[in-house]
Amino acid sequence: MHESRLETKCLHAGYTPSKGEPCALPIYQSTTFKYDTTDEMGQLFDLKSDGYFYTRLQNPTNDAVAEKIAALEGGVAALLTSSGQAANFYAIFNICEAGDHVVAASTIYGGTFNLLAVTFKKLGIDCTFVDTDADEETISAAFRPNTKVLFAETIANPALVILDIEKYAKVAHAHGVPLIVDNTFATPVNCRPFEWGADIVTHSTTKYMDGHALQVGGAIVDSGNFPWEDYAEKYHGLTQPDESYHGVVYTKQFGKKAYITKATVQLMRDLGSIPSPMNCFLLNIGLETLPLRMERHCYNAQKVAEYLLAHEKVASVNFAGLPNDKYYALAQKYMPKGTCGVISFELNGGRDAAVRFMDSLEMANIATHVAASKTMVLHPASHTHRQMNDAQLAEAGVSPGMIRLSIGIEHVDDIIADLEKALVNA
Ligand SMILES: *Cc1c(COP(=O)(O)O)cnc(C)c1O
Repeated sequence: MHESRLETKCLHAGYTPSKGEPCALPIYQSTTFKYDTTDEMGQLFDLKSDGYFYTRLQNPTNDAVAEKIAALEGGVAALLTSSGQAANFYAIFNICEAGDHVVAASTIYGGTFNLLAVTFKKLGIDCTFVDTDADEETISAAFRPNTKVLFAETIANPALVILDIEKYAKVAHAHGVPLIVDNTFATPVNCRPFEWGADIVTHSTTKYMDGHALQVGGAIVDSGNFPWEDYAEKYHGLTQPDESYHGVVYTKQFGKKAYITKATVQLMRDLGSIPSPMNCFLLNIGLETLPLRMERHCYNAQKVAEYLLAHEKVASVNFAGLPNDKYYALAQKYMPKGTCGVISFELNGGRDAAVRFMDSLEMANIATHVAASKTMVLHPASHTHRQMNDAQLAEAGVSPGMIRLSIGIEHVDDIIADLEKALVNA
């Protein structure tokens, strides 16, 4: 069979019913799975045979959706988690331990920033943040002998900085570390970071992948391309025997799936951020229409960005689809079909005008959410980035008056009409 296109994979990858089986992906809402002999189950615990036994480790509904997401990104395997936070935590912790170091782009999502700057620090893992637009030499200078990961986002939330993925991959590989890219905002519909050299991709599936704001979830996808064994000492967790599984060596036993297998059988076993089969089922419904929705999100966002740019009360608009945007060229290169439906903008009246504007919106919801079918609006300085001081805000590319607008798939004229009314009060 020929390799199907992305739109088709969104519907068919991961689950192929046989004769008489349901066309819709079944929800295996069960904690456990039955075996006939003691030995059969014993083999599973030693990772000697493959099979379902407990949903914290594997579940058929979850696995089908993971396989679909892996197919969409062009990876070899994926692991679903109960949130995007858990996905980024596991993706990094799978190859880092106390005494290690991470280099990350400074404009990443506030939750991930805190994870790296505060929580990982408590675990003994340090992070150096670099300006996302920094040149190769500057990013390189942040590396130390104990650096294990370079981390960034395809489209930074909420600064909307577009990542030069090839540049980041080149620096990471020159230092013998993998590049992990959070691809939440672009989705594999608009960008597939593996095609540009990224090694591991993460997602908050809570956003466009779900699209209906129904479930909180995450995913980690491995390209299978990073040569762990070339850096066997550095990535000893993957290349040396794991005593908690009677000496399994992940790279030897699982080859290109070593990284995802370790994350599943070790981190998921011990830390347990598993999504429910019901949530994976809901996510799967979202994935079926992802390409259609992304197309409309991008179309609407383009129109809204152009409208706002021309408005007298608007000081600036960040949206990489605007030809005068700082990131237009990078967006054209990495995301020629469009970036995403999220834009940010600043009113002439700054912080106070932002609050008046938001409180005057009727259709758009003020919500701590983005990237859903309904239009939503947020004030990062008072919401997602509230824990940051002014210097950290500036580093994250967030100004006190910035409004983050997540354009939905309503009719674009209705979205603009809502904005127009609210702008009168801004
Ligand atoms: C929302 C988000 C996260 C966190 O995901 P949750 O599902 O809310 O835990 C991580 N990265 C990015 C880019 C996000 O937008």
